[in-house]
Amino acid sequence: MPFEHPALPYAPNALEPHMSARTFEFHYGKHHKAYVDTLNTLVPGTAWEKASLEDIIKGTHGDAGQIKIFNNAAQIWNHTFFWNGMKPQGGGAPTGDLAKKIDAAFGDLGTFKAKFKEAALTQFGSGWAWLVLTMEGKLEITKTANAVNPMALGQRALLTCDVWEHAYYLDYQNRRADMVQAFLDHLVNWDFAARNLDSAKAA
Ligand code: ZN
Repeated sequence: MPFEHPALPYAPNALEPHMSARTFEFHYGKHHKAYVDTLNTLVPGTAWEKASLEDIIKGTHGDAGQIKIFNNAAQIWNHTFFWNGMKPQGGGAPTGDLAKKIDAAFGDLGTFKAKFKEAALTQFGSGWAWLVLTMEGKLEITKTANAVNPMALGQRALLTCDVWEHAYYLDYQNRRADMVQAFLDHLVNWDFAARNLDSAKAA
């Protein structure tokens, strides 16, 4: 069974005006799909032919000989995770245990947002900003380059923002900060992050 391009969890225009249908046409329709198509050309005849994306990501990270497979598998996973971490009329504040853990780790939601934005802006070149649960059970903000993700590093991802230029250039040109601010204020799906925290705790 080849890898599939997962459906978007909302219509391509559902996040306007913060993220346009035109951005989804390229970012989801071209970039994300290209990672799927490329992985499907790379895995036949390898040990990964019937593996899950998760197993491929964990099994190929750091192996220079398998960097193409890692990059494409991780970028499929990262983008699907990013789409699901946003929703129409998102933003607002987390509730429940996630809210408590954010306050414990960062002081308050405003400080979390400032630190997340700083991580997103200081990721030099292409990459991702993340809210993760570490192996020690703490919330942390991290940033990764290119396709690297928390799963490859033994952490659980709760939320991410794509800071590749292709994520914001059509809507914001070079203004990465404006896209990250819109993500935090209007797009974040805190229920998705809370579900990821629950499943990490159950694991
Ligand atoms: Zn992207």
